[in-house]
Amino acid sequence: MKTFGRPDFLMLYYRYFAPLLAGIDTDKAFPDLEIHLLLPGDMPKTGHPNDMRPHFEWPRTIRIPVLILPDVGLELYFRSQVGIFGHELGHYVHFRFLPNEKKDDPLWQKWSKLTGKELDFVMRTHSKLSGREYPHIPSQEDFADEFSFWLQGERLHMEAFCMGLWGQKAKVTSAQVGIFKAIHNFTGASGKEALQKHLSVHNPRALVYL
Ligand SMILES: [Zn+2]
Repeated sequence: MKTFGRPDFLMLYYRYFAPLLAGIDTDKAFPDLEIHLLLPGDMPKTGHPNDMRPHFEWPRTIRIPVLILPDVGLELYFRSQVGIFGHELGHYVHFRFLPNEKKDDPLWQKWSKLTGKELDFVMRTHSKLSGREYPHIPSQEDFADEFSFWLQGERLHMEAFCMGLWGQKAKVTSAQVGIFKAIHNFTGASGKEALQKHLSVHNPRALVYL
């Protein structure tokens, strides 16, 4: 994967977005992905309603508009976009690794069982048209959200499934996370520091779960 943007945007990308990807083999998970961090005026205008919003464009492009808001500052802005960045990565992943958007697709079924989410790929949102409660969230959007939570360390039960999509093994189990959390929370500043140092070398993926 490649990331493009102003030097100050890239610095903040590496500070806030890149840590979510620690321990993930990005050559396998996102081999041809391009991430563009753009001033709003540089977002391409295609007439699509998503033009000015963070979006994934099939097959390999994520664009994140970077709003320069004097009251907020760039740093806070990037922090506020972490979940959205993860969501767009989720779209890249389901298009690449779960392309068969059918209720009987084995991989989608596996994900559905894991998360308890019912599969429904219909994009309509209007209750009168779809017969669903409004707002209906199609599985592609659900997946992107869950993937983002997984990247942020909030879906340990998806670790093996997600890593397995691109041929990696789960980096942590719930037993391990329990031990890491105990060390992190109950051994004081020096224990915490030692753990973080150790994990950043030996198992950086575990850091998102602390
Ligand atoms: Zn989405």
